Amino acid sequence: MQFTDLKTQYAVLKTSIDARMQRVLAHGQYIMGPEVAEMEAALVAYTGAPHCVAVASGTEALLIALMAIGLKPGDEVITTPFTFAATAEVIVLLGGVPVYADIEPDSCNIDASLIEAKITPRTRAIMPVSLYGQVADMDAINAVALRHGLAVIEDAAQSFGASYRGQGETRKSCNVSTIACTSFFPSKPLGCYGDGGALFTSDPAIAQAAREIRVHGQSGRYHHTRVGVGGRMDTLQCAVVLAKLERFDWEVARRLALGERYGRLILESGAPVQLLAVRPDRDCVWAQYTVMVDDRTAVQAALKAAGIPTAVHYPKPLHHQPAYAAYCCPDCMPHSIRAAQRVLSLPMSADLSESDQDRVVAALAAACAA
Ligand SMILES: *Cc1c(COP(=O)(O)O)cnc(C)c1O
Repeated sequence: MQFTDLKTQYAVLKTSIDARMQRVLAHGQYIMGPEVAEMEAALVAYTGAPHCVAVASGTEALLIALMAIGLKPGDEVITTPFTFAATAEVIVLLGGVPVYADIEPDSCNIDASLIEAKITPRTRAIMPVSLYGQVADMDAINAVALRHGLAVIEDAAQSFGASYRGQGETRKSCNVSTIACTSFFPSKPLGCYGDGGALFTSDPAIAQAAREIRVHGQSGRYHHTRVGVGGRMDTLQCAVVLAKLERFDWEVARRLALGERYGRLILESGAPVQLLAVRPDRDCVWAQYTVMVDDRTAVQAALKAAGIPTAVHYPKPLHHQPAYAAYCCPDCMPHSIRAAQRVLSLPMSADLSESDQDRVVAALAAACAA
């Protein structure tokens, strides 16, 4: 069994993926070819976000977002300590200061009620992460941001395809804040065959800034209006995303169904496993199907012995990582510390079979009983 099954997906989509890649090889516009704008338009249509800018990776999207809002050294960005390092990395790269707010212990997303107390005159932005594929509490976060004039950047690297209702109409992840960033790393819900990412925004000025920053700050050929980066997404990778979009609605539906089925089977098994809470006004596309267990080391070893691959997202909160420890006391963020000790991700992909899922849950129950 594979932790993420991408081979079945390729087998199913081979004809269109091969044809789309072949077309790029034939027209030869490997950088900023027509598939780049075609993918951006397709993602605008899918998410409902007014602007999409394809970039080199999810990390690059986050970096470009902070550059586009003009983050300056010493500026503070409020974010979660329970995320992949890239979220805080880009803040620190620009000389900014990550200010952590702890997570909700049941959903593992940032606790929006803790954010306002963290705001200082130096705060520029809030960067919530829609962890595991569930959108964070965006209505509450946007309301705080509006009161204090802050930018909101959704780190949607794990949540592309997820839906969020909140107080208004149902919207897609990447269209629930002024700026959002996603990743097309192969194992993300919408992946390419290398690195890729996208920045979404409702603000045309941010979109224009991101387009310029993506190509070394050029507003015209060899006219560098601002400092930028080499942040383009390859035409070939955009072709892969376009092909994968053909089946993406099915994949999202399948992920939601597998997530529900995992939860039901685990509950029925009676295993002492805590499921991730999914709020009633949103869904979770399960970039990772993550549960919480006590004694994770033993459970993970027993699953490995039973031939079930697992992973831990993430074993340390950022304030326990040497590179990001300076911004917070080690004993702060108790919910993030506890989650990092207990989370365990089980095999998940749209092509996971129900029989394999049955095997995972049986092995998980046996591992917990041992
Ligand atoms: C994957 C991921 C990123 C980085 O995306 P890349 O495309 O790998 O650069 C950032 N934030 C989170 C939460 C992620 O899961």
